[in-house]
Amino acid sequence: MRLRFSGDRVLAVVAHPDDAELLCAGTLARAADEGASVGIVILCRGDRGQTNPPREDLAEVRKREATKAAELLGAELLFGEIPDGTLADVPEQRQMVVELLRRFRPTLVIAHAPNDYHADHRAASRLAETASWFAASHGHQTEAGVLERVPGLWFMDTVGMSGFDAGFYVDITSYVEVKRRMLRFHESQLARGADQSFSALEAMMLQQCSVRGEQAGVSAAEAFRWAGTWKRTLAF
Ligand SMILES: [Zn+2]
Repeated sequence: MRLRFSGDRVLAVVAHPDDAELLCAGTLARAADEGASVGIVILCRGDRGQTNPPREDLAEVRKREATKAAELLGAELLFGEIPDGTLADVPEQRQMVVELLRRFRPTLVIAHAPNDYHADHRAASRLAETASWFAASHGHQTEAGVLERVPGLWFMDTVGMSGFDAGFYVDITSYVEVKRRMLRFHESQLARGADQSFSALEAMMLQQCSVRGEQAGVSAAEAFRWAGTWKRTLAF
C-alpha cells in the first residue's frame, strides 16, 4: 500500500515555531510534492525559547524564522499568538483554533502527541483535536465558514521519541534535506545548542528520522499514529 497526499489539504497544528520542522516537515514536504496544499498553524509566540542572555524581540525574530522556513516548503502559515507556557484547552483558545482551521480548511490535521514532553505541546494536541472536530460543527460560529466534514487526525512523534508508539511511518528519504534547510532558518534556537540545558536540534532531528527510518526499513521516516476515534481515521 502506498499513501498518496494528492488533492489533500494537510495542516500541521504545532505549539512553537520550530516544532513542525522537528516532527513532521518531511511529511509536509512530501505531501506538497504529491500535489497537496500544506499549512502550519503555530499556536505560541515562541517568546520564551530564550537564548542566554535573553532578547526582547524574540517573538518577532522567531516569526521571521518560521516564515522563511514555511516559504521554502511552500506552506501557508497561520499564527495563534499565544504567549509561551500559557497554551491551554480553554474556550477562548478553542474558538481561535477553530477560526484558523476554518481559514485553511484541512482534510487532514497533524497534531502533537497527547503525551509529548512540553506542556504547550500537550495543550496544542488537545486544542487541535477538539477544535478540528468543532470546526465542522454548525453549533460553533466563527467568521470563517463551517468545514464540510471533520478532517482526519494524525498524532505525530514526540520530541526524542519518548513514550510514542508508532502506528505507521511516512518515508521521507527524499525530503530530509528540505527538513534540514527549514530547521536551519531557526537560528535563534540552533544557537541554544551551546547551552547545556538545551539540545543540539539538528543532530537530534536527523537522528530521530534516521531511527524511525531504520524501524520502517527506509533511510529516513517520520512516525505517526491515527487518532482512532469516530470519523477521525481516513480511508485511503
Ligand atoms: Zn515546541
